[in-house]
Amino acid sequence: MGKLDGRVVIVTGAARGQGEQEARLFRAEGARVVVADVLDDLGEALAKEIGALYVHLDVGTEDGWREAVGLVKEAYGRVDGLVNNAGILRFNALVDTPLDEFMQVVQVNQVGCFLGMKAVAPEMADGGTIVNTASYTALTGMAAVGTYAATKHAVLGLTRVAALELAGRRIRVNAICPGAIDTAMSNPARLDPGADPEEMSRALDQLYRGLVPLGRVGQPEEVARLALFLTSDDSSYITGQPFVIDGGWLAGVSVV
Ligand code: NAD
Repeated sequence: MGKLDGRVVIVTGAARGQGEQEARLFRAEGARVVVADVLDDLGEALAKEIGALYVHLDVGTEDGWREAVGLVKEAYGRVDGLVNNAGILRFNALVDTPLDEFMQVVQVNQVGCFLGMKAVAPEMADGGTIVNTASYTALTGMAAVGTYAATKHAVLGLTRVAALELAGRRIRVNAICPGAIDTAMSNPARLDPGADPEEMSRALDQLYRGLVPLGRVGQPEEVARLALFLTSDDSSYITGQPFVIDGGWLAGVSVV
């Protein structure tokens, strides 16, 4: 028996990184998984490997969502779960951030999460689940990622409101707040065929040793296990909450 037997779950941004690990784990737990992304080659290859459905979806577009939900209903006849995982990060000081860049991040991280819930919730079976991927920076500030932090704070607001509005249909809505996770977003060497991502991982561990109480960067598989908890009945009485997964980073500052 898998924890998600018979459930149909859409994971956005699932071609790589945390979304990929969520798709893999959900499939292993018996879900019929929809891999949604703009990276068609990677997404299609993953879907083929794990026996999932791939749909091209730019989460920032309403037409894209309408089409994707239509394809999912056509293929599986229902939808029980959504993980709004797609996201992008840009580094800039607030005063140096061009408006275009600000709006680009808003469009994917914030509008994408809003449109996902708007498109999927009305089609979702009662008792479904939504997991929104926020961030450590949804709960605190971090210099040079102001745009990103603003969108992730917004994701938490959307999560709480959706939890209230959808509770009548027993649809639970929660948010994941990862700290530093070893994916292409934190470890760009993963995208460079000439680079050694493991070397970069060791450098990241070194960097976070001084910042994070558990002394290392997190792994996408660890985030996937939290997403599974929030998508399965193991979290049946939990809704409207942010779940921090950051190796203790947000716990406070150690002076010894
Ligand atoms: P990643 O860059 O490896 O994966 C992001 C995925 O989102 C990619 O597959 C990408 O193609 C997809 N994507 C981007 N724009 C899209 C769009 N418009 N429509 C559909 N898909 C799109 O990084 P990741 O770490 O796996 O990121 C997953 C989520 O976790 C993101 O929401 C990110 O903000 C969040 N997060 C990451 C970290 C970290 O340190 N890696 C920390 C906190 C939160």
